Amino acid sequence: MEPLKDRIKILIAFRLLLTLIFLGATVWIHYRELKSALQPALYPFYGIIVIVCLLTIAYSFLLKRVRRLDVFAYFQLFADVSIITMVVFLTGGVESPLLFLYILAIIGGSMLLGRSGGFAVSSISSLSYGLLVDLQFYGLFPWSLAMAPSVEMPNSTTTLYNLFIAITAFFTVALLSGYLAERVRRMETELDAAKVDYERLESLSRNIIENIGSGIMTIDRDGRITSFNRAAERITGLSFEEVYLKGIEEVFPDFREMEGKRSLPRGEMVFRGKGGEELFLGFSISPLKEGGEERGAVIIFQDMTQLKKMEEEARRNDRLRALGELAAGMAHEIRNPLASISGSIQVLKEDLKGLNEEDRHLMDIILTEAERLNNLIADFLVFARPAPKKKGVSLKALAEETLELLCSRRDLKDVKVVKEMEDIRVFVDPEQMRQVFWNLFLNAIEAMDGRGILRVGIRRNGRGGAEITVSDTGKGIKREYGEKIFDPFFTTKDMGIGVGLSVVHRIIEGHNGSITFESKEGEGTTFRITL
Ligand code: ADP
Repeated sequence: MEPLKDRIKILIAFRLLLTLIFLGATVWIHYRELKSALQPALYPFYGIIVIVCLLTIAYSFLLKRVRRLDVFAYFQLFADVSIITMVVFLTGGVESPLLFLYILAIIGGSMLLGRSGGFAVSSISSLSYGLLVDLQFYGLFPWSLAMAPSVEMPNSTTTLYNLFIAITAFFTVALLSGYLAERVRRMETELDAAKVDYERLESLSRNIIENIGSGIMTIDRDGRITSFNRAAERITGLSFEEVYLKGIEEVFPDFREMEGKRSLPRGEMVFRGKGGEELFLGFSISPLKEGGEERGAVIIFQDMTQLKKMEEEARRNDRLRALGELAAGMAHEIRNPLASISGSIQVLKEDLKGLNEEDRHLMDIILTEAERLNNLIADFLVFARPAPKKKGVSLKALAEETLELLCSRRDLKDVKVVKEMEDIRVFVDPEQMRQVFWNLFLNAIEAMDGRGILRVGIRRNGRGGAEITVSDTGKGIKREYGEKIFDPFFTTKDMGIGVGLSVVHRIIEGHNGSITFESKEGEGTTFRITL
């Protein structure tokens, strides 16, 4: 509400009150003397009371409609001065006991319109009062209208003196009240400014909390969630309504280990989303204090899942690189003696014609095992090979060749192979890509125990690259294995070595591609390669 409007309201109320009190008292005094309320001398007073009441009604009505409130205020003040002059005239002019009413009007002017209002009212008051006294002095006073009996006019010096005192008093009051009103107004605006700032600060901090990228939540002393910002909702996929006043351990089970800690600079927890996906959250806890008293805690958290994945990836690559270097050294050292061993055995087998069945079998074992070792070394050499030798080839052709080779080596009569392959030419190392297909197909067939559907997809992806998918209907990969299956020597098979997928990973990485997998235990697995 506008301050001036408020002040005008107060003025309207005060005017009515004072009129009723002063004029009421005057009427009462005269009534006691004259013993009749219907004395003609009292009529003007009744008239003034009625006028003020009517004005009050009119002002209240206009207050809601008037636009220029300052003009409205000036109008009221001048009307007041006119009424006061009338009252002073009626109560004896120079001798009137109600002279001080002018002073009230001047104070009203200052309050309403500041210093200028006060001075305006005191000027008008001086003029009106001066005119009144002059009329009286020159005998032009219409005494018949006044209720006070005709007064003997004092001499000119006294009249001038009275006038001087009154006018000085008017202006002094205007000065003082104007000064005070102005001070009050300045304090009010300062207070208002402070209030606005405070509100803005509050909304600013609320906005910061809502728009910041980190999840922020607060808990009370019993560990129940009391606030949850927008980022927290986005990260966890839970709405504030869903978590409000729930125990923090109910929503974030990992918090149980915190044992009601109220301060922790850094921590990590695993959060399982609604869809079962696992999120790694990095968080910090700080105590929440209000007026020096601990009210709970603030928990700030970020989604570190992507970062964690990248960290793991980097760690795996480091391991693979180290293994590559080792393999490079070892492979050649082992391969040569191995070639001599299997060569010699082959010669021996040919030469020793009289070998019995059992010895022949033993020699075959040596040969197949030597072959296995040789293959293993060939796999390892992939790690050691510096850069792929790329050529423009058809992925479809590579996959078909590998499938054919696989059919010749393995019994695939119970495996239905579904091919959904577009003919896409890509720039890759054909030897390495064959190895990728081989390892993935072999794993798929082993996962299905030689019975099921092997689906091979090759298609263009949106970004001008190729996407290869290899799906099986095998036993699937346990959730807890996760990305570990790409680690060297990770195997779940009795006869497995655990290098197949790490080789695939290494090759795809060497081609700046990526490999991911989706799996459901008991239903099957899909590996997806993007090149
Ligand atoms: P290996 O085949 O010698 O065990 P890999 O590196 O090829 O080594 O595979 C590692 C592990 O990943 C396997 O032991 C197996 O548990 C899992 N795995 C790989 N491919 C599949 C698949 N298609 N279905 C189920 N599990 C798989």
